[in-house]
Amino acid sequence: MFKKIFFYFKNHLYLSIFIIMIVVFISSFLFSLSPKQLKVIFLDVGQGDSILIQTPNHKTILIDGGPDESAVRKLSQYLPWWQKSIDFVFLTHAHDDHSTGLLSISQHYSFKNLIYEKEYCKTATCKNLNEIGQKQKSTIWSPEKISTLNLGPNCKLQILKINRAEKETLNNRSLITYLDCLGTKILFLGDLEKKKETELLANYPELQINILKVAHHGSKTSTSENILKQFKPNLAVISVGKNNKFNHPYPETLSLLIKNHLKIYRTDENGDIEINGTKSKFYYLKTEKLNP
Ligand SMILES: [Zn+2]
Ligand SMILES: [Zn+2]
Repeated sequence: MFKKIFFYFKNHLYLSIFIIMIVVFISSFLFSLSPKQLKVIFLDVGQGDSILIQTPNHKTILIDGGPDESAVRKLSQYLPWWQKSIDFVFLTHAHDDHSTGLLSISQHYSFKNLIYEKEYCKTATCKNLNEIGQKQKSTIWSPEKISTLNLGPNCKLQILKINRAEKETLNNRSLITYLDCLGTKILFLGDLEKKKETELLANYPELQINILKVAHHGSKTSTSENILKQFKPNLAVISVGKNNKFNHPYPETLSLLIKNHLKIYRTDENGDIEINGTKSKFYYLKTEKLNP
């Protein structure tokens, strides 16, 4: 049967090419008609961060690349097979658990825009990343040069401002992004520590969020009660590796989240955590694994 089909296509080469073109055209067309939804996936990359955002207008954003090749494997599951580029790639800061995976990702996807603090990114990975960006002709942005990405109707990603004094630690230099898309509001804190959270609260007193990407894998140096009380998230996502050597997340951070009525999802227990936002301002959540 398959042999017959193979020989048929072999003998009708032009017809086969035509059929393939039609199939590609129809699938692209159907993709463009697919429901306009927001998808945010906190990828389970072990001890590190990597977050994929797909906007209703089919823009793709990646925040960090995780510590190894897990993220690129995950991306191939979530992105359509014909997609070979990512519109915006953010590296929150130079630590390996956020940056290393970007190298393997760049071998499969080109980065149209790359946003990171080049002058505070001096590791071998950062050097490679810069070379890759130049080779791929990515537009490389310093975070100061971007304040908001307009991603279509009712959808934007903002880079929140904090004071970036030279002496700050890498964690406290983390790029902070705020997504407000179809009414779903998510704050991504990178590895920011408590003292900088306080600065954020002062700079953005009106900010409201539904979902908090808990800073620094739930460590004890991050997540003050003030940030929970002022920004009022109702859901917390912790990106963390199973049995990690840092003992993240810190039990008191978890207790604080529970005390403030946040529902907690963790990549070490739930696997990939996917948020789907819809036009009616509702979002629903699904996880790869159920809570143990
Ligand atoms: Zn980290
Ligand atoms: Zn860090």
